[in-house]
Amino acid sequence: MKPAIFFDRDGVLNDNVNKHVNKPEELILYEGVPEALKKASEAGFELFVVTNQGGIELGHLTHEKLKKIHDCLEEQLKGYCIFKEIEYCPDFKKASNCRKPEPGMILKLAEKHQIDLKNSWMVGDRDTDITAGITAGCYTAKIGKIDPRADINEANLDNRHVERGVDLEAVVEAIITESL
Ligand SMILES: [Mg+2]
Repeated sequence: MKPAIFFDRDGVLNDNVNKHVNKPEELILYEGVPEALKKASEAGFELFVVTNQGGIELGHLTHEKLKKIHDCLEEQLKGYCIFKEIEYCPDFKKASNCRKPEPGMILKLAEKHQIDLKNSWMVGDRDTDITAGITAGCYTAKIGKIDPRADINEANLDNRHVERGVDLEAVVEAIITESL
């Protein structure tokens, strides 16, 4: 069984402060994200994306459009990392066992790919990401506002690479250090 890092997408890999991502060209990676993912991959983690995409239920987005966005994401990361799988939850209001804070996406991927959840991490920018990670039995890392339940808070890290914005590289380095 291998350890993994499950990354939330919006607000972790790419900026969604001003707008929802409904087209490939709207997916803008934060500075240092390819380098961060490369480090995580080289450290021996399987990499996954677990993203709530309730815009599908709401009709802002189709499965086909979302696939184009994720193809574009993988294209931008060529030469840095390969995601084992990009998992999304299309639900918004209807009862769902995959929409975070539910742990369904993580549990499904772990079973399918034989992931060692006890030594895996969920990285997210919302408390719902942290709840999902904790419920799935992972360590957790929080981007942005501090969540006292998280094992790592980006806001507390001092190994910073970028002055402003999300510093995923610092988070990944902290995860690797904690996992040694
Ligand atoms: Mg997010």
